[in-house]
Amino acid sequence: MSSVEIFNSGTNLLITLAALFILLLSVWYSSQDIKIGKGIKYMFFGLALEFIGSWFGYQMNEYYQLGISINFLAFLELLMLLLSMMFLALSASQLLVANIPDTPVIGAITGLGLVAIIYFCLIAQDGAMVSYMRQIFPLTGFAYISTSFWSQSGHRFKTGFLIGGALTAGVAVLLVCRLLGIAPEIVNSMWYVSALVYVGLAVALLMIKVDFMSKKIEDKDIEIEKYNKRIEEIIKSSPFPIIISRLSDDKLILANNNAVKLFGIQPSELDRYRLRDFFADAENRRLLNERLEQEKEVQDFEILVKTSTGDTPFWLLTSANIIDYNYDIALYAAFQDITSRKNREALLKNQAVRDPLTSLYNRRYFEEEVTKRIALSRMKGGCYSVLMIDADKFKNVNDTYGHKVGDKVLIELSSTAERALRDCDIVARYGGEEFVCYLSDVTPEKAKIVADRLRETISKIVVYSDEGKPFGFTISIGISSSEISDNIDTLIKTADEALYRAKENGRNRCEVFTKADLANFHNQEEPPHKTETGQLHPVFEKESVQEISLLDGVGANHIAENNTNIEERKETGKNQDNAYPILGLDDEDMK
Ligand code: GH3
Ligand code: MG
Ligand code: MG
Repeated sequence: MSSVEIFNSGTNLLITLAALFILLLSVWYSSQDIKIGKGIKYMFFGLALEFIGSWFGYQMNEYYQLGISINFLAFLELLMLLLSMMFLALSASQLLVANIPDTPVIGAITGLGLVAIIYFCLIAQDGAMVSYMRQIFPLTGFAYISTSFWSQSGHRFKTGFLIGGALTAGVAVLLVCRLLGIAPEIVNSMWYVSALVYVGLAVALLMIKVDFMSKKIEDKDIEIEKYNKRIEEIIKSSPFPIIISRLSDDKLILANNNAVKLFGIQPSELDRYRLRDFFADAENRRLLNERLEQEKEVQDFEILVKTSTGDTPFWLLTSANIIDYNYDIALYAAFQDITSRKNREALLKNQAVRDPLTSLYNRRYFEEEVTKRIALSRMKGGCYSVLMIDADKFKNVNDTYGHKVGDKVLIELSSTAERALRDCDIVARYGGEEFVCYLSDVTPEKAKIVADRLRETISKIVVYSDEGKPFGFTISIGISSSEISDNIDTLIKTADEALYRAKENGRNRCEVFTKADLANFHNQEEPPHKTETGQLHPVFEKESVQEISLLDGVGANHIAENNTNIEERKETGKNQDNAYPILGLDDEDMK
């Protein structure tokens, strides 16, 4: 397409070269990251070769003056034009991708052209054919490229292709005019055509690049939409409640039917809710967020939640992930209701520490908890007292009214003791008809007052036999305290010692184990106590006897000696019973 006029004027040449340079820049930029990048580069090679070929043709006379064969020079010029045609055709095949003569066809045509130029330039030397081929090669190249541009006009983003198609078609028309000799003065004087086409193509390529990028974005959008739809479908059909919430503002974006039901959500007003609204425990939520920040994914995390109307909290097991959803960073959380499991766990835990008859804490819990409390109290320099309670003549109750009524008495005794003491105190069933209490921050003096009050309260309880006969019962209490020991076993043992004294002194009374008793207590080398029924006292049933013996050297060889004590106790007990005709428990009354 290059006109001789370009090379006649230095300015024209400069302008054309500048335009070619602009095209080069545009090719370099637009061919990156784009499917037809190779085609764009080929097009530039084709155009550049065509320009160089024309330039060479213009300079040919000078080379001829230097003594180079004119036929060879013509051959070189035609070779460049042929290669230009080949590159334009290759570019066209890349742009069009299909339906245009592909590499083998282009190779065959180029081969034929090569044979023709060798034949007509170097063998048969036909000037007319040479001048014909000079026209026909560029024309074929532009026809190719123009067709390929037009073929893309069905594209959604097509402006760049249409501009390219129009420009290259214009050049082809110009070349046809030149070939057919139509208005040669006008056609040959249009030196600026090359510069215009180069700049125009540069613009067209930039537009193609922009269009490609827009299409890429559009494709990505479609892909994201499809992905979101798929996620939505999976979530909706899930048997588990699932929620997706935006991470930036915590608002819900998606909740499946199960989640809607579970949390009491209005599906039409989804964005009214924030995920935090459903957390019953802020600390629990903070922990979950902390783990998510660290690991991006959390499995089987237990959370305490509530419904949107804020009913009773319930437990859920959640697995949460941070995901990309609808152009947002979101939290995906799937839940499983574990309330019944949690309740069962709580029940079992409770069962493990409670006595089934009275629902009081059991001995193990008492000892563990009191050991902790004592340690705390020691740190703070506080005081405490321990009460050992035993129902008086309880065997008689069983014998007279039956075991079931005996149980009723124990239940009454327990609930009265629990009600009478403070929440911070601990009441436990120690075994049989024996109970222990831990009174925090209570001196032995105060403990005695509390114990007496409790004893009086209990003595006023009226229980009915199966026949509806009312009767009462009493208790004896032994008291030990932080003044005596900070060892749970010793505390219980000394309280039991005081209890023994209370029994001895007539029952229905409280006795305090004092510091003065300690010396006597050490010297006694007390063997394991036995109850009047001959059963081992619970205090000594434990393996911790060793700890007790550290204090007073208790040993198994004292059992015989103890039995004598029991006999004595029995005796004293009997005597004292008569002295305390209490609430229908007197032996005489029972007869
Ligand atoms: P003392 O005043 O010396 O304590 O006389 P006691 O009869 O209360 O003493 P003893 O230890 O001889 O008797 C305790 C009785 O408590 C024996 C047992 O049958 C009864 N007992 C223990 N556990 C239960 C229970 O869970 N239910 C009932 N109904 N009786 C129980
Ligand atoms: Mg007893
Ligand atoms: Mg008893």
